[in-house]
Amino acid sequence: MSSVFVVNSGSSSLKYQLIDLRTGASRLSGLIERIGEPDSFISDHSEAMNVVLAKLGVVDDLIAVGHRVVHGGSEFDGPTLVTAEVEREIEALSRLAPLHNPANLLGIRAAKKALPHVPHVVVFDTAFHQTMSPAAYTYAIDKDIAREYKVRRYGFHGTSHKYVSEQAAVLLGKPLGAVRTIVLHLGNGASVAAIDGGRSVDTSMGLTPLQGLVMGTRSGDLDPAVLIHLNRAAGMSIAELDVLLNKQSGLLGLTGMGDMRDVQDAAINGNEEAELALQVWRHRIRHYIGAYYAQLGGLDAVVFTAGIGENNALLRRRALAGLEHLGIQIDNDRNELASRAARVISPAGAQVTVMVIPTNEELEIARQVESLLA
Ligand code: ADP
Repeated sequence: MSSVFVVNSGSSSLKYQLIDLRTGASRLSGLIERIGEPDSFISDHSEAMNVVLAKLGVVDDLIAVGHRVVHGGSEFDGPTLVTAEVEREIEALSRLAPLHNPANLLGIRAAKKALPHVPHVVVFDTAFHQTMSPAAYTYAIDKDIAREYKVRRYGFHGTSHKYVSEQAAVLLGKPLGAVRTIVLHLGNGASVAAIDGGRSVDTSMGLTPLQGLVMGTRSGDLDPAVLIHLNRAAGMSIAELDVLLNKQSGLLGLTGMGDMRDVQDAAINGNEEAELALQVWRHRIRHYIGAYYAQLGGLDAVVFTAGIGENNALLRRRALAGLEHLGIQIDNDRNELASRAARVISPAGAQVTVMVIPTNEELEIARQVESLLA
């Protein structure tokens, strides 16, 4: 038996799971919140880690600790053993992910201190998308500025897109190399990826997790000139625009509600702003499905995952309604079946197989750690 301890460290939270590699099951999981906040009894990540390890007790079969890190830039395209040099690179990449990478690094340092005798491995959210071609990841701006400041599309949710697209091939009963998939990861954050034979060829998030779909509080795509206009016309600073687009936009900006369940309830009860928000949300999803169908040159599977994708049959149906001309359709009975299992929701014999596959980023991280150490 062997197990991997998976750590996902945020600025004030620490999420953890002990994954049994033989069964893939989680033996223990939890979350510590409000680290370092004024009224909290846990002052820093080191203390949080000690609390967690006290709960964990001695794990005889622990082979490694796996750490989720958000931004790996162009430097990292797979699981990586933590060394002093790797820590420095994660720190340097904080310029691209100022909210996430420093917090991830705090978790790594606390875990290394508490568990010095096992290897520590990082798995980056960006790594899976490193297979994108320059055509897909290049923004058409001054090439020297882009190079100097590392401005390009990176993409995120990579661990989820990888796990879910591999599960899709299993469910289809086809070799991974023969399957073209569009994965819709629809959670509080949301992204779409086009995956050809297990390789990411395009994805909707960009330099940061702000680009692409309409999210809980993030705007997703807009004309970059919106920022210039709001700076000139409304006198908004860069810091204010950052807050506007990351924290006050998306569903929240359109309706005053950041949770999709509330937006949907309001729309059902006749709230016109909520109805418009759902239409904008859906319009953007279909924009990407059409684009990625074209980029992939055909399509075998569309997969829904994450909070909204896994749990909301009505929104799944709404997102794909009217795409029958692309061979994409949903079977209503299959779609509405309440289940936690990976499943097909398109009719038998449909040209494109539509599926719901619960994501499992912790298990994927544990498996990548295992494969690196093997
Ligand atoms: P995150 O993106 O934070 O990792 P999840 O993938 O777990 O989180 O998604 C959480 C989000 O999913 C919540 O913010 C909530 O809006 C949404 N959600 C969960 N269940 C449902 C549901 N049944 N209907 C609509 N939205 C849901």
